[in-house]
Amino acid sequence: MDAGREAIESGAQPKSQIQSQNVMSYLVLARRWRPLRFSEVVGQPHVVRTLLNSIGKGRIAHAYLFSGPRGVGKTTTARLLARALNCQNPDDSEPCGKCPSCAAISDDRFIDVIEIDAASNRGIDDIRQLRDGVRYAPIEGKVKTYIIDEVHMLTEPAFNALLKTLEEPPEHAYFCLATTDPQKVPATILSRCQRFDFRRISVADIRDHLEKICRAEDIEYELDALDHVARKADGSVRDSLSLLDQVIAFSRGKVLRADVDEVLGEVRLDLYFKAVGLVNSRSMAEAFKLDEELAAAGTDPQDFILGLESHLVQILQVKSVGVENVDVPPDAVKDFKGAAQQFTEADLIRLIQFCSTAEVDIRRKFNPRTRLQLLLLRFAAMENSVMLADLIDRIENVAAGKPDDVHRAAGSVARPEVAETPTQPVPGRVDGKKSDAHVADKPQQISLNNAHSDNAADSAPVSEETQSGKAAKKKIVPIPDNPLEVAQNAWDEICDRIALKHNSSSKLMKFDGYPVGYENGYLKIRFTSRYHMDNARSRKQALQRELASFVGNVNLNFEVGELPARKVAGDKQEDDPALRLLMDRFNAHPQE
Ligand SMILES: [Zn+2]
Repeated sequence: MDAGREAIESGAQPKSQIQSQNVMSYLVLARRWRPLRFSEVVGQPHVVRTLLNSIGKGRIAHAYLFSGPRGVGKTTTARLLARALNCQNPDDSEPCGKCPSCAAISDDRFIDVIEIDAASNRGIDDIRQLRDGVRYAPIEGKVKTYIIDEVHMLTEPAFNALLKTLEEPPEHAYFCLATTDPQKVPATILSRCQRFDFRRISVADIRDHLEKICRAEDIEYELDALDHVARKADGSVRDSLSLLDQVIAFSRGKVLRADVDEVLGEVRLDLYFKAVGLVNSRSMAEAFKLDEELAAAGTDPQDFILGLESHLVQILQVKSVGVENVDVPPDAVKDFKGAAQQFTEADLIRLIQFCSTAEVDIRRKFNPRTRLQLLLLRFAAMENSVMLADLIDRIENVAAGKPDDVHRAAGSVARPEVAETPTQPVPGRVDGKKSDAHVADKPQQISLNNAHSDNAADSAPVSEETQSGKAAKKKIVPIPDNPLEVAQNAWDEICDRIALKHNSSSKLMKFDGYPVGYENGYLKIRFTSRYHMDNARSRKQALQRELASFVGNVNLNFEVGELPARKVAGDKQEDDPALRLLMDRFNAHPQE
């Protein structure tokens, strides 16, 4: 891929070199389809029209600055200008393409078109040489054209030398300075140039161009394949042609979308939709299956996560501005629309945040595959934080080679039956409380469809025996010397844990409440309002359980009042309850 691209990038290379990089005498498309007339330049009508007008009126500037992203036609246009200026039979301002000058310029053997790559010739000596040469009259053509590519790379002395030349150019000399970074070109130089900003070329323009080429070259194609190549080229015709070259070489026949994916090592769109679909299916089994599928296809976890993130951003875009205003593949419009309808914006933002957290973790040297697994599981567990604690157990089991609970028979008491969970939305949280007796009978039956019952579970007088296995396992520490301080430091974490295991709204408890005193075995917790206090009171048991691992068995007092000033919570990373719980379980720490 790089060889092909390189060959195309440096248009001035000897032909033999280009040929040796490709199959016998095969000329790369970008070279073969280099525009011979201004009208053939793709996607820059504003530049083309102005230049043609100037040529027609004979009002051509001695110095132009062509700025814009790579591969959008800057150097090509500069060469066309050189041809137009030297053509012996111009056709309505366009170069004829037939005269000896036109032919020689096309073949890069015209002595009066001088191309300089400023990236590798950036010093004062290079420009001095240019300055000395400029004085001499053209040999072959009517004028001398200097094309300086990546001009922003020149050193300061070189710019000064160039400036002198631009200030008083000989009548026969023209300059085209091309740059991807006009900010780095000194203002003194800019003021001497007529500037054209080249645009990134639209997907539609590139696709049409590729289609035209395929037809002319008698290459069969799927439109979707060309569309995808155009998308991947990111606004650059040159890149699109280089990609198309690769796909043609790979497919040796019809250009298929599947070939494009293969050449690009592309993750298929349907896999992204599958990942997003986990949120609806709520199936851990599906999450593991997708993970297997990705691993089997050799997908790089980080690539997938990044791709998934942009996929979600696209869905969010579709949701906000409508599918017709977002650049999505034509055959995926329906899927994007569907996905956009299924989620709220807040949901999507949350999913995007999951992705970025996972991505950051990978960069922090967490195991990529595990991060991807966790991410998929989080998708499947969205809106159902209750199950997160369980699925972490499951990951542990899988890691330890124990059978996955997913396949356990229905009716098992120990865990929610995730795989069998119907694909229907969670019924709205109802505050109706079940009878305490019922709850005490089945303390572990916290499954998706009765998730609301955990409220009742918390408020029920659950005895030590009926507490869940996990809670029972949790060690109860002796009451420390400074229980208040310990409780204050652990407050956020305690709230997060409760939120994770019981009710996600408890997460807010850390902002609305705070331990403020300790006396005779009673920990006093203050809340900003009676409402928040009552809420916390309904989760008193859970609070006590979580507190037990920090300050031992304490009784609780609640009061309403103003919260004291407190330390700001630390790093966002540490603030993620899911991650913290996970790190806690695996005894892991982020590596800096
Ligand atoms: Zn000509």
